[in-house]
Formats: sequence, C-alpha cells, structure tokens
Amino acid sequence: MNMAQKKMILDLDTGIDDALALAYAVSDPNVDLIGIISSYGNTLVKTAAQNSLNLLHLLGADDVPVFLGESHSSTTDHFDVMEISQLIHGKNGVGDVTLEQSPRDVESQSGIDFLISAAHQYHDNLIFIPTGPLTNLATAIKKDPEVAKLIGNTTLMGGALTVPGNVSPFTEANIHQDPEDADYVFSHQKNLTMVGLDVTLRTLLTKKETTAWRALGTKAAEKYADLMDFYIDAYFKLSIDKKGAALHDPLAVAVGIDPTYVTTLPLNMKVTYDRQSGDYGRTIGNKEKLLEPTTTKAAILVDSPRFVSDFQSTMLSILSK
Ligand code: CA
Repeated sequence: MNMAQKKMILDLDTGIDDALALAYAVSDPNVDLIGIISSYGNTLVKTAAQNSLNLLHLLGADDVPVFLGESHSSTTDHFDVMEISQLIHGKNGVGDVTLEQSPRDVESQSGIDFLISAAHQYHDNLIFIPTGPLTNLATAIKKDPEVAKLIGNTTLMGGALTVPGNVSPFTEANIHQDPEDADYVFSHQKNLTMVGLDVTLRTLLTKKETTAWRALGTKAAEKYADLMDFYIDAYFKLSIDKKGAALHDPLAVAVGIDPTYVTTLPLNMKVTYDRQSGDYGRTIGNKEKLLEPTTTKAAILVDSPRFVSDFQSTMLSILSK
C-alpha cells in the first residue's frame, strides 16, 4: 500500500450515482477507501448498505467494510423513500438491476462510531465524502465535537447556491432530507466543500459512455451499464435532462481527491429550516458570519470536459477487470 495515500470514507445512500461514486473511489489509486457508511435517502439505510456490499462484491473489493448509519433524520422517527427517488433510482436503489448477493454482512460497529474513530486516527489524512443527507456527520459531531476539527477534508454532494434546487426552487434533495442536521454541519464542520447542483448538473454521462462500458464484456461492466442506463432513461422520461444524467456523487469523490476540478467560492454558509418560510432547505451564505474566517467553500464552476473524461477512463479501467 502507498503510505502517501489519503484515507477515504464514503457516506452513501446507494443509489445509482452513489454506485458510480463507490466504483470511482475503489478505482482511484490516490486514495485508500477504508469504509462505507450507509445512509437513508435514495433508499432505506439497510437497502443502501446491502447495495454497497453487493457492488463492492461485484467490483472485487470485498475488503472494504460497510457500516450502518442513521435510519432517519434528526427531526423524524422514521423515513419513507420518496416516490421520485424510486423513479430515478429504481425500487431497489440500483435501477431494479439484480446484483449477486455479497457473502458479507454489515459491520457490528455503528457508522457513527467508525467515523469518530477514523477522524481521531487519520485526522488531516482523512477525506470524508457524504453523498446523501448529512445526518450521520451531524450525529458524529454531536457525539464528539472534536470530529468537526479533526477531519482534514469533508466534500459533500448536496445543496444549490447559484441554481434552483431539484426538490423545490431552493432545495436540493440531500439537504431536503434533513435541513436541521445539514445546517448543523455547515455551522460546525471545518474544511467543508459543497459540491452542489451548481456544478454536478454540468457533468453529464450519456449512453455513448455506457455503450463503451458494455463493450468491455465483463459482468461488472454489464451490471454498471444496466444501472446507469436506467438512470439516463429516468432523466429522459422525467425531463430532468434529455441529453444524459448528472454525475452528482462521483464528482464529489473526484473533488475530494483533486480540488482543481472545480472553482470554489469561500463562504460561511447555513441551511434555512424554518418550515413556515418560503425558502425551507436553502443553502445560502450566513449573514451572521460574513466577517469571520471562512470554513466552507461552495463549488460554482467545474472543468466538465476534464472530469467526464477522467471519470470515463476510471470506469473503463475498473469495469474491465
Ligand atoms: Ca447519493
């Protein structure tokens, strides 16, 4: 193992673009994927964990442990998958594609405790990538406030600053699941980068790329092409984008490893969570902290040709095995 490698933890609500993020992180030689924490969101938390285990098995990465995170937001007592999530990700979260069952189960340690112990063990060397609701990170910080300072780099997929949301004119889906905990994270976590719809909607994958995956002829390539084609078809049918599907979650992984893919705006941010206000779930600059040193950056531009090209090379590499 390359000792200069940074350690990476993914926090996934797996999810089709989460499946892409997982493959990207497994494949990139610049990071050592030390674990996946599972979240509710695109699916129920247990389904997300099982999907991650099955995808790791498909990719020959049975050495990466999977942990259960929180099963619902901090302000609710249960979670139901939104109908729109099922249309985009399929009823099973992975485009209704049948994956071979992993021989492994989730770890007995909770995802929250795993994140806390990894933060203490690796601090600056740890990259944490949440691509679902921010409930797990907020819960970890509430249990051990040191976590907010220890993690070297937290790069999240979520939010929208310069473009409208995808749940409401202000609200992006991951933030929408738990705006209170998202605000807690934006208010506490140091070295935080937001990779939101501002940039992810500019990174599209089309059937041209998935046709090239399929041509590799491996089982992993066939399954990944099947689930990505489901996602591209859903984007078309729902008129989200007629040209292709956005690479939301893998862009967050790529930016966590190489921040030069995006241009960022340093800005202390907050999330509005007053249900009576018209902008519930909005990610916006925090007026009370405009004069304080900035701890958060929002990605506002992306070198899309370079990212999509690098993403495709990475996928072709891992799916050929
Ligand atoms: Ca996700």
